[in-house]
This record gives sequence, structure tokens and C-alpha cells, in this order.
Amino acid sequence: MDNKTSSSNFIRNIVESDLKEGKVSEVITRFPPEPNGYLHIGHAKSICLNFELADEFKGRTNLRFDDTNPLKEDTEFVEAIKEDVQWLGFEWDELHFASDYFEELYNRAVVLIKKGKAYVCDLTADQIREMRGTLTEPGQNSPYRDRSIEENLDLFARMRAGEFKDGEKVLRAKIDMSSPNITLRDPVLYRIAHAHHHRTGDSWCIYPMYDYAHPISDAIEGVTHSICTMEFEDHRPLYDWAIRESEMESEPHQYEFARLNLTNTIMSKRYLKMLVDNGIVDGWDDPRMPTISGMRRKGYTPEAVRAFCREIGVARANSVVDERMLEHFIREDLKLKAPRTMAVLQPLKVVITNYPEGQVEMLEAENNAENEAMGSRQIPFSREIYIERDDFMENPPSKYFRLFPGNEVRLKSAYFIKCEEVVKDADGNVTELRCTYDPETKSGTGFTGRKVKGTIHWVEASQAVPAEFHLFEPLLLDDAEGEDDKPFLERINPNSLEVLKGFVEPNMQEASGNDKFQFFRHGYFNVDPKSTDAGRIVFNRIVSLKSSFDVKA
Ligand code: ATP
Ligand code: MG
Repeated sequence: MDNKTSSSNFIRNIVESDLKEGKVSEVITRFPPEPNGYLHIGHAKSICLNFELADEFKGRTNLRFDDTNPLKEDTEFVEAIKEDVQWLGFEWDELHFASDYFEELYNRAVVLIKKGKAYVCDLTADQIREMRGTLTEPGQNSPYRDRSIEENLDLFARMRAGEFKDGEKVLRAKIDMSSPNITLRDPVLYRIAHAHHHRTGDSWCIYPMYDYAHPISDAIEGVTHSICTMEFEDHRPLYDWAIRESEMESEPHQYEFARLNLTNTIMSKRYLKMLVDNGIVDGWDDPRMPTISGMRRKGYTPEAVRAFCREIGVARANSVVDERMLEHFIREDLKLKAPRTMAVLQPLKVVITNYPEGQVEMLEAENNAENEAMGSRQIPFSREIYIERDDFMENPPSKYFRLFPGNEVRLKSAYFIKCEEVVKDADGNVTELRCTYDPETKSGTGFTGRKVKGTIHWVEASQAVPAEFHLFEPLLLDDAEGEDDKPFLERINPNSLEVLKGFVEPNMQEASGNDKFQFFRHGYFNVDPKSTDAGRIVFNRIVSLKSSFDVKA
């Protein structure tokens, strides 16, 4: 893989010294998504961290689906997640599902019961919560805590056999109801759910909880460094307890790092799902979504996302990263790669009255001024062209150097034109400009006779390809993630998508899904992969050309 320089971070240092001291012979990490939604940019950070860390030390990384909650999970999400990890440029060593370990997880729970370390409890979820205590008060023991091992073994087997209804019983760890760490106050290990599982079907009606399934799954796979986000810090003693008490051979360790938060970006699956379910966006891969599939459709590149993840680094302190930093890496990546062409997003027709009728000439235009290797192309020029509506003003303010009556500008890669006449409809709207051109001013001929201050872009009218341009703004009007008093759906930005209809150069006819271009003066655009088969071409704006944001070198 390119640029393989996982920046130094505290987890990397731990791995390095564990290898040096012989605590582990090989580093094995895993990325463990729950298949209950699509991956987002936050997950990308975790993916990059896990895969690049193992890569750097010649270790291995597994992709493991944490599919222990049948009600929310689906095969659609499994497939989408695989595609996204691969798109980012990573290959997992082994593909696993926590559901493959259901039998082993069950057997290990039996080990716990036999050691007197777990018991079947009949309290309801509410009662368990009420008796758990608070940060300042200890919890109370469950009246079922002292059931005999025989009774617990019998009840647990009957839970599995389907004798009880959802919520009637749970299996709990027997740890310490007065522990200062609430996570250790007899946490639930198994619950009953008569639900169809997307992989195991109806074979199971009891499902392990994350806090139990996760450490045991890590141990089964021989994971050495189990990396998760900070909210699991308090769960680490439980993670260690589960591995120790269920007598797993291998001994993975958990390390926590801070989640990625981005300005203007909603990252929680719950909210993203709400946007999808309410039809506010066009699916999980809507270009406005911070999902990996949304970013892909918008035109972000895996190289840029990886470079961004490296730059932000890994720390334990929470912070919010400026989304413009991500945009910076997109521009950096596309600057030399994307061909530069002209597109008119809001067209205004211009007739060049002194250009011969019926004549079309081909002009040479370079494909990327910063990358000569990209060569040049031929673009048609004739008596009728389109320019950007914004590039004309009838009564301009001072310092307006584009077209206005009597003014002369350069058409990029073509000639100087001068605005002679403004044509309007009955309502006074400008419908057409009549201009003259000066044949002496042809681009590339070294004309030095006089100078003009403005250069504008254009597309020849008879061969122009009609196109739709989608410009995006943040989905939410404010920054906070659901902390606001206003219901989430009232905070949606009604103007997050702007659709413009204009024209692109004729050679764009051949563009296909996910081709990327820099449109002169407008920014970087991606051919929407879902648009081309419908016979119309949609360009998603990836990012504008400039930003005020500088990433420190
Ligand atoms: P969400 O809260 O968005 O639903 P999640 O944590 O429930 O996310 P999982 O599928 O359980 O989603 O996460 C898989 C892995 O990705 C976990 O290791 C989790 O810690 C990590 N992860 C999730 N969100 C972020 C984030 N914003 N930044 C870094 N890592 C993240
Ligand atoms: Mg989760």
C-alpha cells in the first residue's frame, strides 16, 4: 500500500514494545462492526488504525461482524461493510461472524455457571436497572443470586431450549454489586430473544451481550490488541474478567482511543438511519451522508480518506476535527489526478456575431496545467456558446472584471470577446448576449496587443452535453449531535442539495460512473455512478477549489 507510514501513536508504541519484549509473537487486530447500518467516516478511522497497525508490524487483521443482536442486523449491511473496507484499500486475513461462535460462547457460559460465576436471574430489565445503584450508592443483590449451580445449569439449558419468553430470564455474571465500577455490578451476559437471525435463522433464542461476546470472540481468534473507542474504558475490567473466568487460552488486551468527531457531521448510525428512513436523503449512499458509501458516491477517494485518518492521529482525548481538513486531503489527492475541463452550471447563451455562421473550429486545451503529462484535448468553438450566468452583469459594481456591456474578457483557451448587446425577454430577463470576438487574440498564439482582466469559461453550444450538477451543504443546520432541544428532524437543512442544469464539453459523453474532473473555477466533481444508466449525467460536487483552511505541514 502507498504512503505506509502509520504515524506514531500510543497504541502503536504499545504494540512495538509488546513485540520487542516478546509479550506477543505477532500482532493480530480486528475490525468488529455490528451489521446494523452502513460504515461512516468514524469507522474509517478505526479501520485504518487496525489494518495499518497490523500491516506495519507484519501482523494480521480480521473482519468480524458483531452480529449478536438479531433485531437490528441484516445481510444487506454485511455486504455493504465488506465493500467499504475493500474500497478503503484493505484486505482482511480472516472473515468471521460472532454468530459462528454461538456454540462456543454458550459452552463458556456453562463453564462460568459451573464455577459459580454466573447465575440465571428472573428480574425484569427495569428491576435490574433499579437495583444496580448509582455512582454514589452500591447496588443490591438480586434475590436469584444464590441459586444453586445445578438449578442455574438447568435453567440456562431451558432458556436455550426456548421454554421462556423474551425478558423472562437473563444470565448474569456474579461479580460485585457494590463495585465502584457499575459495569461490574453483575452485568447481563445472555438475554432471551425469539427473533430470526440473519445467519443462524431460528436455531437460537438466547443471544450473548456485547460485553461477553466481544472478549470471548477476540480470544477465540487470538487477537492480541483489541482496539475500541473510549466509551468502553469502564468495560475493560469486565473484558478481562470474561476472558479469565471462562478460561480462554489466549489473552487479548483492550485499548481505547477517542472517537472521531467532525464539524458539521452527524456520525451516529441512529441518526443516519433516521435520515434514510424518513426519505430525507436518497439512501445510505446519498452523497451528503458521512457514510463511506456516500463519500464514495460524492467522489472522495480512498487515498484521501486514508491520508486524513493518518493526519488526525490516535489519541485518548476527545476532540472535534474540522471537516475542512478532510476536504484539504481530497483536493491534494485530486489536484494532479483529475483532468480539468469546462462546465457551465447556469448557462447563458452568447452569440458571436462576427464569427462565420456554420463554422466550427477545434481549439487545443491543456488537461491539467499543473501536470503536463496529462496532455491536452481538442474542444470545439463556434458562433454560439454558453457562459455562466454569473459571469455577466448589466450594471456591475467597480472591480467586476467579467462581462458587462462594452467590456472585453478572455474565453479560456479561446479568444477575447466583447459584449455588444443584451437581449431580454418581455419580463426584462436577460436571455442572450450578442458579442464580437477578435481573431487575433487566439489562445496560445502569444497575442500581446492588449490585456483583459477577466478570464471566463464556456462550452460550445451545438455540441454541448446537457448535464445536472449537484451541489451540497451540510445536512444539519447546527453543529450539535442531538443535544439540541429541537427534535432532530427539525434541524435538517432544507438547502442541503442544490440541483443545477447546464452543459459540459462534448468529450464528457464518454465519462462513466465515478470519473472525476476539475471544472474550471467550480471545483472537483464526480460522475454519480447511479446517474449514467438513466441516460442523464449527474455530476456531484466533491469539493470546491479553495478553502481558508491550512493543514500545518
Ligand atoms: P455508531 O455509534 O455510529 O452506531 P458503533 O460504535 O455502534 O457506531 P460499531 O459497528 O459497533 O458501531 O463499530 C465498529 C467499530 O468502529 C468499533 O470498534 C467502534 O469503536 C468503531 N467506531 C465507531 N464509530 C467511531 C468513530 N466515530 N470514531 C472512531 N471509531 C469508531
Ligand atoms: Mg456499536
